[in-house]
Amino acid sequence: MALKRRVEGRVAPSRAMSIRIGLAMLQGARHEHAQAIVGAAEELGIDAEIKVLRTSGDLDGGIDALILPGGESTTMRIASRHQGLLESLYEWMNDDPQRPVLGTCAGAILMCSPPSGPPLLDAEISRNAWGRQAKSFQAPVAVFLNVEVVPPAVTTSVSTDAVHHPLVVSSDGLGDGETFPGVFIRAPRFSSIGTGTTVVAEFDGEVVGILQGGRLALTFHPELTSDRRFHRWIISQAAIRAAD
Ligand code: GLN
Repeated sequence: MALKRRVEGRVAPSRAMSIRIGLAMLQGARHEHAQAIVGAAEELGIDAEIKVLRTSGDLDGGIDALILPGGESTTMRIASRHQGLLESLYEWMNDDPQRPVLGTCAGAILMCSPPSGPPLLDAEISRNAWGRQAKSFQAPVAVFLNVEVVPPAVTTSVSTDAVHHPLVVSSDGLGDGETFPGVFIRAPRFSSIGTGTTVVAEFDGEVVGILQGGRLALTFHPELTSDRRFHRWIISQAAIRAAD
């Protein structure tokens, strides 16, 4: 199992900055993610625009981060109307491993075992590995990922720079295992995790969330809870990159 490391993204909100979060409308729990992004952006005080992605052309304007929602990964793969979109999403992700991506449940499956090409994460995943729908469950998940909001600095001088609050990132202190309401619906399980990954979530000692570069894969559904931690994380990562 990967060594547990602590990572923290601390973001000073800047109203001047607007970031675009791409939401893949493949199938499944999409609208809940949109709501979670709206709520998380508000919590962070960051302007985040949701870019709904239905076709590959929707990526043209550019996005700062991507959400791959849960659903049915097979349906996502085989529906021909998704083919062009999926290809473009893989291309976008492969262009830079630091690009922030949040893949939940089926989204994590699409990252760990793409229909073609190399996996996006150094991990193997088994579909429906907890059993059938009736075996879906909710349980506390220990989370090792925190996003803290740094209050805007008080500025005493007025210049264009003064309205741009710096983003503070520390590589130290990722969460404290504070629990998260994990919703597991016909969830996959990681069957192996490579050394390049960082464990960010555990249920009962089992890894249920990993991070590698900018890619975060969870086997559960954070968008179905009111805890916006993971959505704050992706917004903050996008904001950090946008400010670079
Ligand atoms: N069982 C689904 C699959 O294999 C994933 C379930 C989910 O996303 N909630 O694709």
